Amino acid sequence: MAGNSARTQAVQNITNRQPMPPKAPQSLASLWASDVFTLSKMKECLPKEVFKSLKKTIETGAELDVSIADVVALAMKDWALSKGALYYAHVFYPLTNATAEKHDGFISVQSDGSVISEFGGKVLVQGEPDGSSFPNGGIRSTFEARGYTAWDVTSPAYIMTTDNGATLCIPTVFISWTGEALDKKTPLLRANAAMNKAAQRVLSLIGHTDIAPVNSSCGAEQEYFLVDANFVNNRPDLLLAGRTLFGASAAKGQQFDDHYFGAIPERVQVYMQDVEQQLYRLGIPAKTRHNEVAPGQFEIAPFFESANVATDHQQLLMTILKNTAKKHGLVCLLHEKPFKGINGSGKHVNWSVGNATQGNLLDPGNTPHANTQFLLFCGAVIRGVHKYGPLLRAAIATASNDHRLGANEAPPAIMSVYLGSQLDNVFEQISNGEITGSLNAGVMNLGINTLPVFSKDAGDRNRTSPFAFTGNRFEFRAVGSSQSVAGPLVTMNTMLADSLNWVADSLESQLNAGINLDGAILKTLKTLIDQHGAVVFGGNGYSAEWHKMAVEERGLRNLKTAADALPVLKEPDVQELFEKLGVLSPVELASRFEIYAEQYILAIEVEAKLVVGMAKTGIYPAAVKYLSDLSATLSSLKTNGVELGNERLVLIAGLLTSMTATADTLSATLAKHDFATIEEHLQFCAQTIRPLMDEVRQFADELEGEIADELWPYPTYQEMLFIK
Ligand code: ADP
Ligand code: MG
Repeated sequence: MAGNSARTQAVQNITNRQPMPPKAPQSLASLWASDVFTLSKMKECLPKEVFKSLKKTIETGAELDVSIADVVALAMKDWALSKGALYYAHVFYPLTNATAEKHDGFISVQSDGSVISEFGGKVLVQGEPDGSSFPNGGIRSTFEARGYTAWDVTSPAYIMTTDNGATLCIPTVFISWTGEALDKKTPLLRANAAMNKAAQRVLSLIGHTDIAPVNSSCGAEQEYFLVDANFVNNRPDLLLAGRTLFGASAAKGQQFDDHYFGAIPERVQVYMQDVEQQLYRLGIPAKTRHNEVAPGQFEIAPFFESANVATDHQQLLMTILKNTAKKHGLVCLLHEKPFKGINGSGKHVNWSVGNATQGNLLDPGNTPHANTQFLLFCGAVIRGVHKYGPLLRAAIATASNDHRLGANEAPPAIMSVYLGSQLDNVFEQISNGEITGSLNAGVMNLGINTLPVFSKDAGDRNRTSPFAFTGNRFEFRAVGSSQSVAGPLVTMNTMLADSLNWVADSLESQLNAGINLDGAILKTLKTLIDQHGAVVFGGNGYSAEWHKMAVEERGLRNLKTAADALPVLKEPDVQELFEKLGVLSPVELASRFEIYAEQYILAIEVEAKLVVGMAKTGIYPAAVKYLSDLSATLSSLKTNGVELGNERLVLIAGLLTSMTATADTLSATLAKHDFATIEEHLQFCAQTIRPLMDEVRQFADELEGEIADELWPYPTYQEMLFIK
């Protein structure tokens, strides 16, 4: 395939590429957590009492005894030095979906000029990065820019290695000097604590006496694209925005369904194995890998872990996916919609709650008693999604995820719950006030006090639901591939905490009124499903009928864009929810709205500028060159008595004129800056700028199909998706 010189060079580079030097395979035992300061390593090197105290904090959330910090720091330092680390870093998670690090050397210069390695409890426990360059949504003015990082003992420290060295990394929270959370970890820890408290109330009311701390778990399935770096370097849009802003569809897309679960290309498999080895060394349990639906798209899913650790691991995983791709001459695109016309990428967040004594509280189990417990927890989730669906929508609202949601490949923007036919039926029976049995358990007429036994996989899989029950957990499917999973987990745990408190209040008031436990549970469940059952939907989430029914009959909200969804963060019931459960203060919540709105606006402005730039400096010159070549050829043919007609000239000139005019309009529109409110600015981006960008693209993509391939300036979809 002929391309312009840069494209031809890119293809040549790929053809001549030397494969990565092979590495000897390593056993899982030698790799697993070898770069993590694990509990078992701590046990080996810490005094017994110190280890016991630390373990208690990690496993039960008991308060950290700071007096042990010096001893732990010393052991951590010795371990890190033995791994070749010269530096340590407090790692934190600002409100940008990114990971931030502040590095310091262990080096300490002595009075005689010699150096020693030093690392004490004080610097382990607390760091002081300059916070001024991180978004704070108005929480601090720049002169009060100081931020603090504080050690999160519940997420293990680890070593990050490069070819030239190693760094000890310590997961931390990031707060302002006035104590407000400036990060994604702090609210996650708080939401978990609120959920734990509420869950314990319910467990105790239904008769448990041994109740271990309840924690949430998360297993995230990460989708991504791989494109050869030679192409990306010639695409300003991919380089700066992470997605293609131009590009006509290739003749072949995903319509053959030949990529999903197909054989993984060897170059990609070598890359995946490299990624997995690093993940194993960091104690991240990578479990599945496969091709995804679109050409060039893949998925990696680690085994689930506690939500806090899984979130840190998810951030590391995204970093490793990207960094390792570079070494393999690839670029890993985590964007939700890198290519128009083929599937985008998401990150299904599998979520459950449980503890050491009662197990997974979303497991239907086999005994009626466990079923009652399950139904209460499952019902609490249903109530949460019904009451706070718009908040869930806001938690996944980004400029990039807007391209995916509701595009008939990803869940719609309307939040509903899929339960499967068997559970649907159980809740229907509860609503009717009489429980007779479950659909296919073969056990009928268990009597009103006993609940049916049901099998885990009685429900079908419904890919069109944004929030689906999948046997022993819920799967939030609308989360974007480039997002931190912290926001969705904060939202889920908080709404569950609220619902569990409602359940506990209801049980308490009925028990106090002299109703027996079974009666109180049934009454609670009936009220719950009667009030919130409208959110349960088992049909086709893509259909137009559902969109109409959801809004008109069920009263659910359809927040189509992030511009519609983000203002939910300012609604009084959301503010009250976060405040009363101690997850986010009104100031912290307001700062989140400001920051996420700003990020949305910035992302769209950057893209719009790229659209204008690429149209004018790349596509326009190529098209003009083609027009001039073509008209010269037509004239010369004419002098030789051959007449070809000038329809193509006219067509291309017309497209070019329209593209340039629209790009000029877009450019002028971008200059508008007098908005009365952020909400107005958000809507302007969604309703005015984005459609103009799409319009420029439409003309440009048509031009791509009209002018000589050798003149087209940017790598094409065909090249980027199919050449490896
Ligand atoms: P699928 O593609 O069928 O949805 P995968 O096996 O790819 O499923 O991913 C499922 C994810 O859910 C994995 O990360 C898995 O560890 C996680 N998971 C399984 N059980 C639970 C649970 N009880 N709580 C949270 N996550 C879970
Ligand atoms: Mg899944």
